[in-house]
Amino acid sequence: MIGDRALQSHGGEKPHVWSSLGGGCKIDIGKQIFCNRSLNMRNIVAVGFDMDYTLAQYKPETFESLAYEGTVKKLVYDLGYPQELLEWTFDWKYMVRGLVLDKKRGNILKMDRHKYVKVAYHGFRELSKEDKVGIYGNTLIRDTFDEPDYALIDTLFSLAEAYMFAQLVDFRDKNPGKVPDYSHMYKDVRAAVDLCHRDGTLKQMVAKDPNRYINEDTSIVPMLKMLRNSGRSTFLVTNSLWDYTNIVMNFLCASHTMDGGINCNFDWLQYFDVIITGSAKPGFFLDNRANIFEVEPMSGMLLNTDNGTPMPRVGNTAPKVLPKGLSKRCRVFQGGCVGHLHKLLSVESSSQVLYVGDHIYGDILRSKKVLGWRTMLVVPELEREVELLWELRDKRKQLRLLRNERDLVEDQVHHLKWSLKFERLCDDEKQNMISDLGELESRRYQVRLAHQQAQRDCHQKFHRIWGQLMKTGYQNSRFAHQVERFACLYTSQVSNLSLYSPDKYYRPSEDFMPHEFHILPL
Ligand code: IMP
Ligand code: MG
Repeated sequence: MIGDRALQSHGGEKPHVWSSLGGGCKIDIGKQIFCNRSLNMRNIVAVGFDMDYTLAQYKPETFESLAYEGTVKKLVYDLGYPQELLEWTFDWKYMVRGLVLDKKRGNILKMDRHKYVKVAYHGFRELSKEDKVGIYGNTLIRDTFDEPDYALIDTLFSLAEAYMFAQLVDFRDKNPGKVPDYSHMYKDVRAAVDLCHRDGTLKQMVAKDPNRYINEDTSIVPMLKMLRNSGRSTFLVTNSLWDYTNIVMNFLCASHTMDGGINCNFDWLQYFDVIITGSAKPGFFLDNRANIFEVEPMSGMLLNTDNGTPMPRVGNTAPKVLPKGLSKRCRVFQGGCVGHLHKLLSVESSSQVLYVGDHIYGDILRSKKVLGWRTMLVVPELEREVELLWELRDKRKQLRLLRNERDLVEDQVHHLKWSLKFERLCDDEKQNMISDLGELESRRYQVRLAHQQAQRDCHQKFHRIWGQLMKTGYQNSRFAHQVERFACLYTSQVSNLSLYSPDKYYRPSEDFMPHEFHILPL
């Protein structure tokens, strides 16, 4: 609503015109950093990054397809699923983040912030309103929609498994007996996807040709340099292991050769003070004293440490020779926990750390809630979403007017009915009211229809099945609610940080409650 007021006040100007000013430069709406909770960058001494889907944006059309194909093969060859699965194809645009899988019933749900199910599919078949209400609305105790009966599609890594689950549900309904029950199938898919991430199915392929699977982003290095030149420490905390991290970070930061290849070296380490690989987030954020090993970048060998301090190697007194390009300052580790990291960075208070990640549960929730780190969530879908909001501004305005009219006519109908029933009226008055009521009821029918149609059109413009990522109808989606609660900042790409001063004071927009909307100051 507030966003719309801003839109209206800027008339028909192009998006970049009403974009924010970062140090005097205009920043496109799709690249802006949005603020839920005020954050003064002057108080931040260390900025940390997650790697996968944060610094490294995978191309879902190739990367998620790889995960999909690998999963199908494991289901067929290792778990005995029917051969016809091998002919299935993956529509990488079908699933979106924020959905919830109902493992037992084979349903895929989109909910609002109150956890009301607003869009529901059984496999690929839309559930009727009656079915939806019957299953999820008429319960004595409200469902929490959490594990173990439900699975949250909260990272872009999960899109392929959600799609495959829907396909299997459809397949089971048409071929009873050929595959196990819905929950069992979900478990199998999950196990197969998990294995694809761990056994090299995905990572070997990415290592061979990173350009095919990861978006090149030449603004990452300047962004890291800017932060470091401003006196901040920078660090990386990733669940990926060192060998893979080195390949991905080389692709993102290294200079490219004339033939399009990459000079694989350790130059990229100069952009970080500390690197933690194999971090096992979100467990990493609990100060649980997990062992921390130093990684020798050249060999990938793990060295024992005493809580991060190098331990002299017994029987080996040879001086450690740093390979060319390997920064003396940057140290690479595997494992450990947040306590080790704070010590390595000499951070005095957790509120001095800003961590940028893509996963609400893995990166953001625990780090903010348990630790008090400041957080920024990367939501690549946001760029298109805000552009569409702009493009559809007239339609959305029309939608709002229709909604207001519907509510008004509905109130008038109820009021007239009430009067007819309880007021003492003479015959003429009664007749007039009955005729007014007839007209109003037909108007109500038309407005309702027009409103429903306009709402459906708008919904489908964002995504033909699931609609707007951050909304379900007029309410924030469950995903948006989580973003609002746990991410201090959110933006479409990590490198948007470089569009703002490293000393920027991010401030949220004013909060409004429903009772304030009609009396907003101009
Ligand atoms: P991060 O986002 O940089 O912390 O790294 C995520 C890591 O988790 C990547 O190495 C992924 O391949 C891995 N990953 C993602 N999903 C799964 C899974 O389901 N099982 C095991 N590893 C996963
Ligand atoms: Mg990640």
